Amino acid sequence: MTLRAAGTPPELIVADGAGAPVRLMAPSPDRDATATLAQGRSRPAWAEIDLAAVTHNARVLAELAAPARLCAVVKAHGYGHGGPAVARAALAGGASRLAVALVDEGVELREHGVTAPVLLLSECDPAAASTALEYGLIPTLYTAEGIDAWAAAARAAGHPVTVHVKVDTGMHRVGAAPEDLVSVVSMVMHEPLLELEGIWTHLPVADGMEPADRRFTEEQLDCFERLVEDLRSAGMTAPLLHAANTAGAVAFPRSRHGMVRCGIGLYGYLPGAPGGVSASFAAQSSGAVLRPAMALKARVVAVRTLDAGERPSYGRLRPLPARARVATVPIGYADGVPRALFRAGYEVLIGGRRRPLAGMVTMDQIVVDCGDDETVRPGDEVVLLGDQGGQTITADDWAAMLGTISYEVVCGVGPRVPRIVIDRPDAAGD
Ligand SMILES: *Cc1c(COP(=O)(O)O)cnc(C)c1O
Repeated sequence: MTLRAAGTPPELIVADGAGAPVRLMAPSPDRDATATLAQGRSRPAWAEIDLAAVTHNARVLAELAAPARLCAVVKAHGYGHGGPAVARAALAGGASRLAVALVDEGVELREHGVTAPVLLLSECDPAAASTALEYGLIPTLYTAEGIDAWAAAARAAGHPVTVHVKVDTGMHRVGAAPEDLVSVVSMVMHEPLLELEGIWTHLPVADGMEPADRRFTEEQLDCFERLVEDLRSAGMTAPLLHAANTAGAVAFPRSRHGMVRCGIGLYGYLPGAPGGVSASFAAQSSGAVLRPAMALKARVVAVRTLDAGERPSYGRLRPLPARARVATVPIGYADGVPRALFRAGYEVLIGGRRRPLAGMVTMDQIVVDCGDDETVRPGDEVVLLGDQGGQTITADDWAAMLGTISYEVVCGVGPRVPRIVIDRPDAAGD
């Protein structure tokens, strides 16, 4: 990757090769771009979104799951990467459908010109059904209220609506109870304007390596298949069955059915502990790897020399072990850099070297102990997540330090951080 950074930040970061100027992913709608860019200009901290990586990851996952289709899960602004941009990149890589959590997220896709089918992963508020229908979103239904609301919205619109029904085989979050599935599906079938396309379920421990986890997932898949059989015996079928998230798609081939719903894999991460889903992926991907799509970067804004024993930042928690250059970097916990990283021994990259925090993370800034390195200057690039000088920090590294998962790390990058789309011409064609 080549980024031309001519002087100060980030408005001068230009995608090399294509010669295109910075393209910014506004949260929504497009007119917000100016405001977000202005915010980005006022402070050198940003997230780089590698859309070629998303396209590549979609291609790898689509090939792995084929002939099952790939549904790209782009809820929560594409796991923090930017919903519409990620949706387009995933569709370019072979996804044929999209899924979101909220009606608003589906509306955002439509307002950005995305026309692919969009599935709502939970039943929406009945009051939102007509809006969701107007934007061509596909509901997931599992209650009588939801079915009634969508039937009424379809009658008001005067045209048929494609719907999916969800059954709860063990996630215990939303969905029809297995014993109610026949009656829920028959309610849908009795509504002339509701066209049942899909029946689906969700897997809570498909990333687990413990025998009990694997057994639980197998039992869920048995249950799902049995229920589909029961429906068939009662004369009810749907053309599209789906059960797999990224972990299921990779580690449980039988869960792929007609479609897999992949989120985290698209963004370049695999769930679960090393040796589980990741080993299963390696065994099937004939050498292909997933590439993280987000980097989190900033620039040094101040450098000072402090004596041994000085204790920068709130709480005065860490005495400098030696006289040191301490760099101030304008990104903090309000941007998704948790305070807990300090105690976990987090290091950032400056000048291609790992450098510890010199004190507690603050809301807007961090301080970095650069030791006796006299070369660190204001304007130097700081990598909090991503690559620099052959070193890499991943969302899995953060997750290990924070006792969480990569999902929460990338979703946690705050709305104050502008997303800058980068082109990686050297990565074209993978
Ligand atoms: C978020 C979500 C997914 C995607 O899960 P990943 O682990 O990110 O692949 C799939 N299905 C449902 C119902 C979800 O809520």
